[in-house]
Amino acid sequence: MIQRDGRLHPLPAGFSGLVPGQARPLLATAAIPLAARLRAVAEPLVPARRADADESLEAFAIRRFGRGAWEGLIEPLLGGLYGTEHPISVRATLPHLHDRERDGGLLRWRTSGPKAATGPAFARPVGGMERLVDALADALRQRGVQIEMEAPVEAVETDGAGYRARLGDVTDRSARTLLVALPAPVTARVLRPLDADLADPFAAIPMGDAAAAFVGFRTDAAEVPEASGWLVPRAEGGPVQAVTMLSRKHRGTAPAGSDLARVFLRPALTDASDDELVAAAVDHLRRRVGLRGEPTFTLAHRWRAASPRYTLGHLDRVAAVDAATARHPGLALAGAALRGIGLPDVIAGAEAAANSLLAHFDR
Ligand SMILES: Cc1cc2nc3c(=O)[nH]c(=O)nc-3n(C[C@H](O)[C@H](O)[C@H](O)COP(=O)(O)OP(=O)(O)OC[C@H]3O[C@@H](n4cnc5c(N)ncnc54)[C@H](O)[C@@H]3O)c2cc1C
Repeated sequence: MIQRDGRLHPLPAGFSGLVPGQARPLLATAAIPLAARLRAVAEPLVPARRADADESLEAFAIRRFGRGAWEGLIEPLLGGLYGTEHPISVRATLPHLHDRERDGGLLRWRTSGPKAATGPAFARPVGGMERLVDALADALRQRGVQIEMEAPVEAVETDGAGYRARLGDVTDRSARTLLVALPAPVTARVLRPLDADLADPFAAIPMGDAAAAFVGFRTDAAEVPEASGWLVPRAEGGPVQAVTMLSRKHRGTAPAGSDLARVFLRPALTDASDDELVAAAVDHLRRRVGLRGEPTFTLAHRWRAASPRYTLGHLDRVAAVDAATARHPGLALAGAALRGIGLPDVIAGAEAAANSLLAHFDR
């Protein structure tokens, strides 16, 4: 759902690639004012941009759909994912949008093509995401892989035909091949002794923080709409950016008869105290879904410098990294810094990196 004037409205159907794809639900939605809807559904009439240069998500969306749809619908959806406080590159994040723009626009009046797959839009391992990591670690150990987690990697240098990693406990490890899957700023620091051309593009990738308060409450203590959560446009004001109803989105995240909300606060609040984060979240739930009494569970959590921002120029940085990596046989890079911030892209990138190292061994 999406908040407008303090009330929650269903997100219009027919979003495609995180932007509106169907005109009728957009015209009918109560989530944005009528004037904004009329402007938005005129999207197919907006001529395609001829310039080939990259563009920010904000500029693209306002050009195609108008400011009302950007502020009321699109920015709230993209902001939490990509960090739209920066000028985020369309080509690096949603490259198909420019193609669709040239293909007669993004909106369709008729729904055509195969029906969207039914079933839940979200999935995660039962028991939480760490089950995925635990299963991977178990599978590796069964194959005789030794996993060391005691000391961070401080720096990487060449070592004969391979690489030497210096660790924080002042020991080092040498290997013929090296796969680096670290957050962008750490990659920059660790790889600088090896090659400044490799480090510089990573150092130029800004990182975004996130902060959330988790609030548990008895289901009968609030009137929560049947939705996996809601987004709060910036224009609505207030400290809350989005709410995920974890207990509705993922089975088994709250005891029977209880609900669990994850309330994302705006980045400016990252440094607020735990109590302030929780208080802001509880206040929001009181106003939006009529939460009564005291929560049964609260927890504040921050993800610092956790999400890379693909700002304008990102694709140039990726190309620079690729060119520099090619000069280091047996070196591969993976992780969210370059080619996709979500897990599916990260997993695909990791497989590609692993395959490139296997090919190196074959050679
Ligand atoms: C709040 C939040 C919600 C998200 N929700 C979703 C979602 O619903 N769906 C989705 O697909 N994606 C989601 N993501 C994105 C997803 O978490 C990332 O795509 C993924 O974690 C990136 O993987 P990574 O391996 O690149 O980085 P990370 O998972 O950050 O892993 C980097 C690792 O490097 C380690 N490290 C750091 N420094 C060193 C060092 N010096 N030496 C050794 N190790 C070091 C860290 O401890 C960490 O384990 C979310 C992200 C956030 C922050």
